[in-house]
Amino acid sequence: NSDLILYVNLELVNKKSDRRYIVEEMLGQGTFGQVAKCWDAETNSYVAVKVIKNQPAFYQQAIMEVSLLSMLNDKFDPDDQHHIVRMLDFFPWKNHLCITFEMLGHNLYELLKKNNLRGLQLQFVRTFSRQILDALIVMKGAGIIHCDLKPENILITPKVNSAAGVKVIDFGSACMEGKTIYSYIQSRYYRSPEVLLGYPYTTAIDMWSFGCIVAELYIGLPLFPGASEYDVLSRMIEIVGGQPPDDLLREAKNTRKFFKHVGSIYPGNEAHDGLCSSYRVLTEDEVEARDSKKPKIGKWYFPRGRLDRLIFAYPWKNLNEGNLPETEKEDCLALVDFLRGLVEFDPNKRWSP
Ligand code: ADP
Ligand code: MG
Repeated sequence: NSDLILYVNLELVNKKSDRRYIVEEMLGQGTFGQVAKCWDAETNSYVAVKVIKNQPAFYQQAIMEVSLLSMLNDKFDPDDQHHIVRMLDFFPWKNHLCITFEMLGHNLYELLKKNNLRGLQLQFVRTFSRQILDALIVMKGAGIIHCDLKPENILITPKVNSAAGVKVIDFGSACMEGKTIYSYIQSRYYRSPEVLLGYPYTTAIDMWSFGCIVAELYIGLPLFPGASEYDVLSRMIEIVGGQPPDDLLREAKNTRKFFKHVGSIYPGNEAHDGLCSSYRVLTEDEVEARDSKKPKIGKWYFPRGRLDRLIFAYPWKNLNEGNLPETEKEDCLALVDFLRGLVEFDPNKRWSP
């Protein structure tokens, strides 16, 4: 039992000197605790120390983070080639579990902000996407679902030979495929349709989030910045087109929060195949009447429209098909095609890494 081994190790680590890490500055704050940049007096190098909140639920989940990440690091990526953060150590401190990681740079949300939320050049979108995919391949191979893929959890790596790079961090929500416990997972903008709808999920939910991230890196703003779950889902339907497949809607727990049952499909009748669905999404009025409160206006104004129009005619890229250079036009078409494979409603049809 890996949990047991970790508890035993914790006791051993506890006896070590408590003056090893010197806090230099705070790097970030999340749901699970705080992350500090520290000087490691034993190795004479900087490390990032995540100090977990001292509550049992957070402690348990942090034990999961330690177990899954050490498995990924040691067994599936021993040579540190697959763009997953390295965990260095963990120890208890005043009732807090602390985890030390290699020191990395800014997260991708900070990078986008520095760029005035205008998106990155396509060459960076391509490089970062390929590296995140590399990490996702390893995670799928290990049967691990990250469950919280988003720009804040992807960090720039310090420049080695000036090549840009990223690493996936924060396995604090991760779980094993087939042993999923929680149904309320993923950050709202990056939440997959099957999680929204309350349907059993797999590593495919990370591919949905990945699609959202790729689009955001290019356009600079979140693809589905919904103020509520309903708002997220209606943006998905509007931008991607179509809706989740009937069999998913029939079996999902939360379908009635978002959809109205309007009939039944006609098995074997081609005329209805793909044209007629048993469900239609609720109108805003219907949701308002039910919730008796209007969904809040999103933090960002975001023009709605089809996915290809978003990519091609994005206002601050000031591009449109007419004045795009031929090569960029082809690249944009390829990007739209790529995104379509990722933000696919049906988890079985969605592209795997
Ligand atoms: P949480 O689970 O609370 O979200 P994270 O592990 O995502 O915690 O860390 C929170 C933030 O701290 C990250 O978004 C990032 O900005 C910063 N951070 C985390 N790990 C590192 C690291 N290894 N190097 C540099 N910054 C980090
Ligand atoms: Mg995080």
